Amino acid sequence: MTRRIAVLNQKGGVGKTTTTVNLAAALAREGHRTLVLDLDPQAHATLHLGLMPGRSGPSLYEVLTQGLPLADVRRQVADDLFVCGSHIDLAAAEVELIGTVGREVILRDQLAADEESYEFVLMDCPPSLGILTLNALCAAREVFIPLQAHFLALHGLSKLLETIHLVSKRVNRDLRVSGVVLCLYESGTRLGAEVVEDLEKFFEARKRAPSSPWSEAEVFRSRIRRNIRLAECPSFGQSIFQYAPSSRGASDYASLAGEIQGRAPSGTWAAADRPAAPAEPDSDGEVPAAGRPAGDPASAPAA
Ligand code: ADP
Ligand code: MG
Repeated sequence: MTRRIAVLNQKGGVGKTTTTVNLAAALAREGHRTLVLDLDPQAHATLHLGLMPGRSGPSLYEVLTQGLPLADVRRQVADDLFVCGSHIDLAAAEVELIGTVGREVILRDQLAADEESYEFVLMDCPPSLGILTLNALCAAREVFIPLQAHFLALHGLSKLLETIHLVSKRVNRDLRVSGVVLCLYESGTRLGAEVVEDLEKFFEARKRAPSSPWSEAEVFRSRIRRNIRLAECPSFGQSIFQYAPSSRGASDYASLAGEIQGRAPSGTWAAADRPAAPAEPDSDGEVPAAGRPAGDPASAPAA
């Protein structure tokens, strides 16, 4: 059965796109047929996978607003890796679909009609809980929540879970939160370890309601550490496995790909979690520095 996963957090700059693209690339590398659906009008995943929004043909905008089949939008970008791209026009779909009956299940129906079969479908969501995100939640069976381990990490999580709960109650009974992916993780900091503890408590307290969509949610043990190579590779239109296959970023996403398929995580973060651990240069010769902004400052999280 296809695993259909929405990568969602209504906050920007938490690692949704980085996770969607590099997890998809990790799965495809293992020979799993994988499709990325870029539902963010900013088209960062499309660019990250090496496509120019608009120039490589129609996008999910035409799929959602004009009923174009996914097959007409899909492009192959590597062995076993496919993408249905985004375009800035997708922002208009929020408004254009207001009067459309069943607007939240268009993507679900289009996926069901697609004759191509995939083992994984990963949906990169925009930083909002509008109609594009609702389409992802109705088409998905699982939600992964990327989160940055800082002191406001849990802020907004209740609202997110409430939305998921409503969708699971009214439209998509199969929807489950599988887990939280800790991104931009600063190994060796007390804060990182504390946020993990808070998160585990947060889910523990909510697991008691047996039919809730997050009763099985966990914090994935694979942590995605802050790694400059991950911030660099989008501008080359390459996944981390093409751009820097021996970086920490590549090994962290390979570990996550294994973990979501039931294999034991292979990283070294657990030891690095000890607050007193000294900062070590990583395999790219980079010394982790707390507070250093990563990548495009425009997509940094709002305070
Ligand atoms: P979102 O899709 O949630 O807005 P992104 O995946 O685009 O977040 O990440 C925000 C910024 O942080 C981007 O510039 C990205 O390259 C960078 N980034 C994401 N994860 C990491 C990481 N583990 N290490 C370093 N930079 C990262
Ligand atoms: Mg994004």
